[in-house]
Amino acid sequence: MSACHEARLWKPLKDGVVQCRLCSHFCRIEPGERGLCGVRENHPEGGTGALKTLVYAYPAAQNLDPVEKKPLYHFLPDTRTFSFGTMGCNLSCRFCQNASLSQPPRLGHPVAGNRAEPADLVSAAEQSGCRSTPTPTPSPRCFLSWWKTPPDWRAPGAYGTSSSPTAS
Ligand code: SF4
Ligand code: SF4
Repeated sequence: MSACHEARLWKPLKDGVVQCRLCSHFCRIEPGERGLCGVRENHPEGGTGALKTLVYAYPAAQNLDPVEKKPLYHFLPDTRTFSFGTMGCNLSCRFCQNASLSQPPRLGHPVAGNRAEPADLVSAAEQSGCRSTPTPTPSPRCFLSWWKTPPDWRAPGAYGTSSSPTAS
């Protein structure tokens, strides 16, 4: 069962339709339907559309890595990094290394993950001794709403980075 949380960056149109303004697809989403990324859904409320994100606090992957594995140059060398990501992406690159996470929602498949609040992930990163928290998988833009609580997210010694140029 995916999470369902108020999305950011959208506007209501007529007849319960909404327009997502998170990325340049600017999806026009009918009631009960999802946008192109498959992780933003229009939940009509009293005849008015309301856009929800299905991936807030719902990571589908978490991993500990040496920071040297990331596409960064001389950033906190010889430290470990705590990566996490959700399902869904607004793009469908042929070379995607995380297609098993990025593409299923676009194809109408369920959004999978495990419940974890942003503060839970910061704690996990700190407890594992990581100095950075990149969000490489799949498209960080699709889970923008994670960043609405920046004070918790920017814990002492932790850096939020993204190794993806694209992407609740
Ligand atoms: S984030 Fe998703 S729903 Fe929003 S415009 Fe982009 S593809 Fe469409
Ligand atoms: S933007 Fe990144 S996550 Fe999305 S499909 Fe392309 S390579 Fe995969």
